[in-house]
Amino acid sequence: MQYKRSSELFELAKLRIPGGVNSPVRAFKAVGGSPIFVRKAKGAYLFDEDGNKYIDYISSWGPIILGHAYEPVVDAISKIAKKGTSFGMPTVLETEIAELVISSVPNIDKIRFVNSGTEACMSAIRLARGYTSRDKIIKFSGCYHGHSDSFLIQAGSGAITNGSQNSPGVTQGTAKDTLIANYNDLESVKSHFKIHPNKIAAIIIEPVAGNMGCIPPEPEFLEGIRKICDENESLLIFDEVMTGFRLSLGGAQQVLDVKADIVTFGKVIGGGLPVGAFASSNDIMKELAPEGPVYQAGTLSGNPLAISAGLTTIKTLKNDVKIYNRLEDKTKALHEGMEKCLNKNSIPYQINRFGSMISLHFTESKVFDFKSSSKGDNMFFKKYFHGMLAEGIYLPPSAYESYFLNDALTYEDIDFTINAFDKVVKSL
Ligand SMILES: *Cc1c(COP(=O)(O)O)cnc(C)c1O
Repeated sequence: MQYKRSSELFELAKLRIPGGVNSPVRAFKAVGGSPIFVRKAKGAYLFDEDGNKYIDYISSWGPIILGHAYEPVVDAISKIAKKGTSFGMPTVLETEIAELVISSVPNIDKIRFVNSGTEACMSAIRLARGYTSRDKIIKFSGCYHGHSDSFLIQAGSGAITNGSQNSPGVTQGTAKDTLIANYNDLESVKSHFKIHPNKIAAIIIEPVAGNMGCIPPEPEFLEGIRKICDENESLLIFDEVMTGFRLSLGGAQQVLDVKADIVTFGKVIGGGLPVGAFASSNDIMKELAPEGPVYQAGTLSGNPLAISAGLTTIKTLKNDVKIYNRLEDKTKALHEGMEKCLNKNSIPYQINRFGSMISLHFTESKVFDFKSSSKGDNMFFKKYFHGMLAEGIYLPPSAYESYFLNDALTYEDIDFTINAFDKVVKSL
């Protein structure tokens, strides 16, 4: 495969955009080489500027759950665009999507729309702090909640890949209010509450972690966190930016049957356009401006183009909830195919999977938290990534990311992927 045009475009981009990209994980720093520039995408496939075709396993990091350029979404956006693209005034679309989300997701009465997952999580902790009149929050090592200051402390995903676990520019004052616990380790949570009684506003967590590879919660872990929050009158925030509308219509709360006090959304909720949201009970949401004193705003929040893409995507999911079984079955087929090849070649590995989230770590030991996820062999991973790329399979360019399948992917695509996988694994 030729990547000449992409490399040239990357060199040009680097002259004008820091690192040549607008989001760090795109730059291939973890795997080496030059990123692929996309020209277009359709269904399960990406086409790059050199004319190569790839089967896409990142789906824009989750949002493209129905496949690229999905006709009803494209039609909705085009139709709305002709009527004006932004007003800074209320529209009926916003109430419609709010009703749809609230009727789909458990335990929420009201929802506020924003423009990204980062904004959703940043606003959710402000709301939690305002509501509880407490300053501190607990987050888990390796969990990613966007790039706002409070969360850039042992953050997952692109932040680890770049080795800046504590980003310069985050003040000591902000950092001291973020307490770090270990995923799947209740004791590490309890010890913070012992040291800081009545000071912790909220625990924020990815109910199924997806930013240190895919790490499902162990049995009783989330229930345990729920109990600790109740005992200490702290709020539990489920960051469902990744899991919301991906694991099921009701997200992880529904699948795992644990209740969160505040839920954040992003990715799928915008169907490929920039949308985030946070939602909670009437009691908590009434603190938010203009009803209450906790300020939060956005010039483009509830943007009609973005909302129409999200609305069409969620309606499609709601009208065809079997999509979640299909996605899970396809992910399982991929899992089993990969497992066979890895076993045959005696390669040490762990595959974690939950619904349509899956990740492969080249390590013998179980991957259940950030530390264990870091044990994977990165030399293996780099070779694996580039091997698959050369076979026309686009995987996340970092061992800390999970794959996201979309509904356009066929079983022929999966067979093709497993054949490529077999070839690549033999050469590792
Ligand atoms: C992607 C992600 C975010 C950040 O969302 P952006 O839209 O990139 O700002 C937050 N939390 C989780 C769990 C995510 O996966």
